[in-house]
Amino acid sequence: MADYTPPLGDIEFVLRNIADLEALSKLDTFRHAEPETVRSALEEAGRFMSEVVAPTNRIGDEVGSVHDGNHSVTTPPGFKEAYSKFVESGWGAISYPQDIGGAGLPYLVGMAVQELTTTANMAFSICPMLTMGAVEAILFHGSEEQQGTYLPKLSTGEWTGTMVLTEPGAGSDVGALRTKAEPNEDGTWAITGTKIFITWGEHDLAENIIHMVLARTPGSPPGTKGISLFVVPKFLVTPEGEVGERNSLQAVSIEHKLGIHASPTCVMSFDGATGYLVGEERHGMRYMFTMMNSARVAVGVEGLAVSEAAYQRALAYSKERLQGRAIGQETSESSLIIEHPDVRRMLMTMKAYIEAMRGLLYLNAKAFDLAHHHPDEATKQANQELLELLTPISKAWCTDLGVELSSIGLQVFGGMGYVEETGIAQLYRDARIAPIYEGTNGIQAMDLVGRKLPMRDGGAIRDLIADMSGLDAELAEAGESLDGIRAGFAEGVAVLTEAVMWLAEHGPTKPNDALAGATPFLRLMGNVLGGYVMARAALAATELLEKGDGDPEFLDAKIATARFYIDQLLPEARSLLPMVNAGADQLFDVPIGQL
Ligand SMILES: Cc1cc2nc3c(=O)[nH]c(=O)nc-3n(C[C@H](O)[C@H](O)[C@H](O)COP(=O)(O)OP(=O)(O)OC[C@H]3O[C@@H](n4cnc5c(N)ncnc54)[C@H](O)[C@@H]3O)c2cc1C
Repeated sequence: MADYTPPLGDIEFVLRNIADLEALSKLDTFRHAEPETVRSALEEAGRFMSEVVAPTNRIGDEVGSVHDGNHSVTTPPGFKEAYSKFVESGWGAISYPQDIGGAGLPYLVGMAVQELTTTANMAFSICPMLTMGAVEAILFHGSEEQQGTYLPKLSTGEWTGTMVLTEPGAGSDVGALRTKAEPNEDGTWAITGTKIFITWGEHDLAENIIHMVLARTPGSPPGTKGISLFVVPKFLVTPEGEVGERNSLQAVSIEHKLGIHASPTCVMSFDGATGYLVGEERHGMRYMFTMMNSARVAVGVEGLAVSEAAYQRALAYSKERLQGRAIGQETSESSLIIEHPDVRRMLMTMKAYIEAMRGLLYLNAKAFDLAHHHPDEATKQANQELLELLTPISKAWCTDLGVELSSIGLQVFGGMGYVEETGIAQLYRDARIAPIYEGTNGIQAMDLVGRKLPMRDGGAIRDLIADMSGLDAELAEAGESLDGIRAGFAEGVAVLTEAVMWLAEHGPTKPNDALAGATPFLRLMGNVLGGYVMARAALAATELLEKGDGDPEFLDAKIATARFYIDQLLPEARSLLPMVNAGADQLFDVPIGQL
């Protein structure tokens, strides 16, 4: 069985019909992004990821990255070669501006490449994903000198980037961090402290590693307001832009983890390391959010990617494994398990959620592109709000689903799923980190309810609900065949509206009640947004069928999958309402001693 077949048809369908790549390509900045150019780029990326990156996935899990006890980390066999080909091919730079060596394509296209990379090998993909965060932080907030020093090699991937926040006493509560930054006489800073869980903090894939480190300068106030951001390279960079003297920082050890074994998770010690302040002192948290927001969406892509990989394996297995007799089958013969309704239910659940996730994530990416590059200020602002609203949902809804769907995929394999050699167990283990890092999913839910819903006095969420409601007229126009989808989706929007109104009423006076319902609310909103993209997919497929544009079997399957989602998965939203608006009392009725 091939390790991975890039789902190019599904990706193209979303780019064309949900995220409207064509409209983006009309913007001056993205004039190179004509759909034809993008299609060939993605075909090539798909070939590259399946032939060069996917073969490293299994060995990456089995061997893992290894710390030599002397501050060096060796990546699994094949990683160096695959990474250097990745850099040569320029896949990491596809959505960077051309003036820093990128291809100048939209982030939307970058996301499609990221999906392909991550499905091929999640542990591998995290390295370029973090590098992208470092590029963005320096591009948006660094000085011209910093941009000139780091971006040429970071943007190509010749150097890689990290995100260095977490400390033993500062996880979700980043504001509790204690790493110190003290001014040197020459204008640089001396960084001292211990950071934990630093992904790709040390490795042998690149000649330099550029750490983006949060630290506290003397006299800074406690909490997030006292945090500054520093560029701290593993090797100092010479005036000629080459790798120079070793900086005083080290990977002391790496963690032994449940999954993503090839991705080294490092304990890093900074011992008066030379750092360079990014932007202004004490604005570090704001700058870091530039990195974290894009990384959060990218982690959402991990949920999608791992689900796609699990689906492909489960589907292939269900077409090989003979077991039992399906209804109607000759008594003398066994059936393929794909003929059993319960196995079909598992496969359809995976397929429908995967399509819903892809639609949501790509809409999120489009909002990013419009927020950064649309010439009209009002459109920019509206998309900035949408981006902020969707980001925690993309991160948390998709990564929770990544765990659930990889578990369902494993179930399709029966006992063989629990055995490592089929590879599905690795996906289940790999998927489990994504709801934890980049801000746990609980923290995402609090962000959604506490910060994002109240944006512009609820104006942003009202606008989104109005947009979703607007789809009703379009569905009605498409004719009776979509009536079921129309009614089911309208019910989903009604449930979302009810939940938002409850939170708006109770959040300001009883914040604990709103926070108690935050996680079920995020799930509910993810489900309804999923319904939105699936209804749009059904509408687009119906129109394409009428025009005779596209493969009828593929388009019919899109409509049937949307129907399944709306009829069987979306109703979960209503069942979540009692959890959203229950308040916190019942959570605290049982005293700690009785828990
Ligand atoms: C494999 C791996 C890779 C990582 N990579 C990086 C990296 O590259 N860079 C980096 O800086 N960090 C990294 N991290 C750290 C990661 O971001 C943190 O683990 C995560 O933010 C959670 O922090 P914590 O582990 O301290 O958990 P805690 O903050 O202790 O949380 C424990 C539980 O309490 C909940 N909780 C905490 N506070 C609240 C609150 N106020 N309200 C409600 N619930 C709350 C959490 O949701 C969670 O369920 C990585 C971690 C791992 C395991």
